[in-house]
Amino acid sequence: MSPSDSDEVLIKQKIMPRMEDGELIWIGEGKKTVDVQGIKDRFHSLKIETDWKRLDEINRYRNDIEHYHSPVSAGSVQKMVSNSFLVIANFIRDYLEEDPRELLGEGVYDVMQKIEEVYNRDKAFCIDKLKSLTYFNETISNAFLDIKCLECGSELITSTDQDISADSTSYSCRSCNDEFVYEEVVTDLFEKKYALSHRDIMSGEEDISCSCPECGGFFLYYEGFCVACGVENNLVCDLCSEKAHPSEAEVFEGRCSYCNYKWEKMMAE
Ligand SMILES: [Zn+2]
Ligand SMILES: [Zn+2]
Ligand SMILES: [Zn+2]
Repeated sequence: MSPSDSDEVLIKQKIMPRMEDGELIWIGEGKKTVDVQGIKDRFHSLKIETDWKRLDEINRYRNDIEHYHSPVSAGSVQKMVSNSFLVIANFIRDYLEEDPRELLGEGVYDVMQKIEEVYNRDKAFCIDKLKSLTYFNETISNAFLDIKCLECGSELITSTDQDISADSTSYSCRSCNDEFVYEEVVTDLFEKKYALSHRDIMSGEEDISCSCPECGGFFLYYEGFCVACGVENNLVCDLCSEKAHPSEAEVFEGRCSYCNYKWEKMMAE
C-alpha cells in the first residue's frame, strides 16, 4: 500500500518528510522495519482490520522459536500456519486487491493451502469421531467440541473408539500421542468453563463448584448433574422446596441442612 517511490514508507520504522515540487511527501528511511506494535499502530491509523487474536498467537510462537524453544506440538504449529495463511490471504484480497495465489507465487500458495487442508481434514476426522459417541446429555456433548489436549493444547484430539458411550473410551492426542480417560477430559473442559476466578470470588460471586456424592466428580450446581458419572440431582429440598447449596451434603438425600436438622430432631423425640 506504500506509494511506489516512497521506499516502502508504510513498513519502515523511520519516516522522513520531504518537499518535492512544492508538495510534502513521506519517505521511508533505512532498513529497519516496524515491529509488531508498530504494525498494530499503522493498521489502526490506516483502518486495516485483521484477526489480531490469530496473529498474536502466531507471533508468540515465532518469538519462542527465535529466542528459546517452543513447547507447542507439531499439530498446533500446523494450526498456526493454517491460521496465518488465512490472515495473509484475506489481507491480500481485501486491502491489496490482488489474487493471493498470483502474488505469493504458486509454490508458496500451494504449500500453505495444503497445510490448511491437512489440518482441516484432521480436525474434521476428530470431530466426526467425537460426534459418534453417546454422552450423558447435550451440555456435555457440546462441551466436547472444544476439546483440547491436556498435555500440549492441540485441538487434534479424539476418542480411541467410536459409536460407544463417551465415558467408556479413552482420548488420544494426534499431536503428542498422550492418552486420557473420560473423566480427565470432561473435568478439564468444565473446570475451565465454570471455575470462578479468584477475582470473582473476591467480588462476591458464590463458588458453586462441588464434588459428586456418587463418584466424587465435577458436579454442576445450576444444571444439577455430574459431568463424570451423569448422576442428576436438582439439589432442591423435598421439604421446603428451596434450592440448597451443594456444600450441604444432606441435600443429596433430599433435605436441606435446616430441614434436615429439624427432621433429625423430630426423629430423636
Ligand atoms: Zn497433545
Ligand atoms: Zn458423579
Ligand atoms: Zn429445606
